[in-house]
Amino acid sequence: MLAAHSFIKVAAITDHDSTRGCKAAIELASAYPDVLIIPGVEISTVQGDMLVLGTDELPPKPWTPQAVVDYAKAIDAVTIVAHPFRMYGMGEQAKNFKVDAIEVLNGGSSKEANAQAKEFAKALKLPGTAGTDAHQVSELFSVYTQIDSAFSVDSVLAAIKKGAVSAHTARGTVPL
Ligand SMILES: [Zn+2]
Repeated sequence: MLAAHSFIKVAAITDHDSTRGCKAAIELASAYPDVLIIPGVEISTVQGDMLVLGTDELPPKPWTPQAVVDYAKAIDAVTIVAHPFRMYGMGEQAKNFKVDAIEVLNGGSSKEANAQAKEFAKALKLPGTAGTDAHQVSELFSVYTQIDSAFSVDSVLAAIKKGAVSAHTARGTVPL
């Protein structure tokens, strides 16, 4: 199913431990020049979920956080700690790994867990991103990341790394 939004035109597709969906989305989106899909995946590492943006391949196993970070660095991809203070989150352990950003606004997390993630990112001096955690169409677009970049995958990845991002709630859609 296709979904559209009036101003959210860039989407990272990060299925759990699979890149099939993002490959399909890139294919579908190729018909729409105003839509940019960032390839990615959410890896279930042994210590919690980690997002990798900028790849349509899976990192080699075993999926430890360090191995995923090493893989991402080698291919210039971006690592983001997903919903650190929720189930399947890495929690404080995330500080032991050279990740690029922390997800500070997750559409499926409580207000408290998101606030804790925001403080955590601030303490680590890491950029904070938003992710809907949408598992169905009705959950899309609840939150979004504003990115100061050109309209290309490389530019978006670079902007996340340098912190040219801010996390926002799409007003009226999610009570945060
Ligand atoms: Zn997750």
